[in-house]
Amino acid sequence: MKVSRREFLKYCTASAAALGLGLGDLQRLEAALASSGAPTLIWLHGSGCQGDSVSFLNLFSDDFALPGSVLTLADVLITHVNLAYHTVVMASAAQTAVTMANQAKRKGGYVLVLEGGVPTAFGGRACIIATDGGRELTYQQAIMNLAGGAAAVVCVGTCASFGGIPMSGPTPAEANPTQVVSCKDAVLSIDPAKLVINIPGCPTHPEWVAWVVVQLILGNVPALDAFNRPQTLFGNKTVDPHMGNIHENCPRNPNYGGNPELATTFGQDNRCLQNLGCRGPTTFSNCPIRKWHAGENGPINWCVDGNAPCIGCVEPDFPGGDFYNP
Ligand code: SF4
Ligand code: SF4
Repeated sequence: MKVSRREFLKYCTASAAALGLGLGDLQRLEAALASSGAPTLIWLHGSGCQGDSVSFLNLFSDDFALPGSVLTLADVLITHVNLAYHTVVMASAAQTAVTMANQAKRKGGYVLVLEGGVPTAFGGRACIIATDGGRELTYQQAIMNLAGGAAAVVCVGTCASFGGIPMSGPTPAEANPTQVVSCKDAVLSIDPAKLVINIPGCPTHPEWVAWVVVQLILGNVPALDAFNRPQTLFGNKTVDPHMGNIHENCPRNPNYGGNPELATTFGQDNRCLQNLGCRGPTTFSNCPIRKWHAGENGPINWCVDGNAPCIGCVEPDFPGGDFYNP
């Protein structure tokens, strides 16, 4: 299925407020999409569940399509972003797909998107992602091969950004049997100056990824916080310890007009969930404002609105022990 660049631009225009795009940005985006300079993406999957790809796919699901549009993620990536490699949506397979990634590498200037942590035990062989010329290629080797020539490395999801669930375990003694490291650590160990943008979340929010892709198309380098997350999406604790804090922006916060009665058990609507283990006070993202779950008019809900405590899925220490324990 093919769609025009106009449809991607149409999505960005319709979502301009959510994506933080002004008129000038949209004009520059239109010019960039009209040129042949749209970035090439090489998107690799390591230790993770591929939920971030699924989340991104949902951004362009039928439910969210603009009237008359048949826009899908594959359309966007293939038609507008020159997707050279993506395990889930690429049309080619096996050596043909790897050859396309190698060709993109030779051209240089691509964006390397990484989803999933990097197992380093057993010579990285806990995660073999392809064969190239008959030789098995580990995720770790692929990152070593491709990071150096990338214009930027974008880590989608908490597993890629910080190690996440593959790095964790039920007890410290049983933790991380494949010695997973974050993609940021893997990349910076070979190129300390490389631009690495973390977009955590379990899964990540599709509009966070769209926002970063648009910024890169525009040639912008987003300001990052101490954990390499875009400050626009995750706040900047150095400048303002409250910026982007979920608790500070939560409509259930009793200090800001929320119900003074706190929830004592699950299922009590419109009550603060702090006593049920909500991690909103130590979590930074724009979930209460941007929200999730695409409806006819955009995102409509988020964890706390659904009576589920925030589990801090965008933070470096996620999952960090039991959920729902104060
Ligand atoms: S529900 Fe969570 S984020 Fe909202 S006010 Fe209570 S503790 Fe804070
Ligand atoms: S509210 Fe918390 S747990 Fe839910 S998506 Fe946002 S950061 Fe993750």
